Amino acid sequence: MENIKDKVIVITGASSGIGAAAARKLAGLGAKVVLAARREDQLQSLVNGMGDNAMYVVTDVSKRTDLDNLIQQAISRFGHIDVLWNNAGVMPISFFDEGHVDEWDKMIDINIKGVLYGINAVLPHMLQRGQGHILTTSSVGGLKTSPGIGVYSGTKFAVKAIMETLREEVAQTIKVTTVYPGATQSELGHDITSPKIKALYGNLKSMPKMDEEAIADAVIYAISQPGNITVNELVLRPLGQT
Ligand code: NDP
Repeated sequence: MENIKDKVIVITGASSGIGAAAARKLAGLGAKVVLAARREDQLQSLVNGMGDNAMYVVTDVSKRTDLDNLIQQAISRFGHIDVLWNNAGVMPISFFDEGHVDEWDKMIDINIKGVLYGINAVLPHMLQRGQGHILTTSSVGGLKTSPGIGVYSGTKFAVKAIMETLREEVAQTIKVTTVYPGATQSELGHDITSPKIKALYGNLKSMPKMDEEAIADAVIYAISQPGNITVNELVLRPLGQT
């Protein structure tokens, strides 16, 4: 595919689900991919299947220094970064009256602060180059709310506000894309502890879901656009999701 070969693409949340699917596809298209997440065994086995143009950096996006290190390591290995995709996220959802405050903190730290730390780490490099592309994964939950997803939804609405403001600030040089997936096959929600959510959604397993490849393909569409075209928003839902 045009405009993908040799692009240096850093992806957080690349050890499973949407990020892993996209990393595999992008590596197959000749991109230089840098995979980031916490589970080293998953990252190692993904990179093993990708050849010389892939590397991983164990990264906890809730730690600012980890994002700084990720960006530095990617630049040291490949010379520059064309694309940063802030994709890492967690969704241990619950109802407010269950008081799962530790899980609220976790979602805020990973889904909001992790995105900010990524932007902060890469922006000076991209501004200095006068080009670059920053993507972040929000959610359909970042466009509308529903009972039980208040804090997760709040983090994803925050992503929308952050990314739209970033776009307005850097529109002359840097591409900015926010990705809003609907229900997608992945490990998301594996850490739900709320009995009310489990009862309501059957642990989310029975919902109609898109294949993670669908989101990967949409992101590849955005990344592969010519230099003067910026795709700002991608919204994908499985048929039937409201
Ligand atoms: P997965 O659970 O499969 O992937 C989540 C990824 O985030 C994993 O690679 C995980 O890796 C990583 N991650 C979690 N916490 C951290 C952390 N602290 N530091 C670094 N990486 C972390 O789910 P998805 O692929 O579905 O999720 C990807 C994104 O898509 C998320 O932002 C999610 O909110 C969003 N999304 C998903 C939808 C869906 O239905 N699946 C719908 C809407 C949005 P590790 O545990 O190894 O750190």
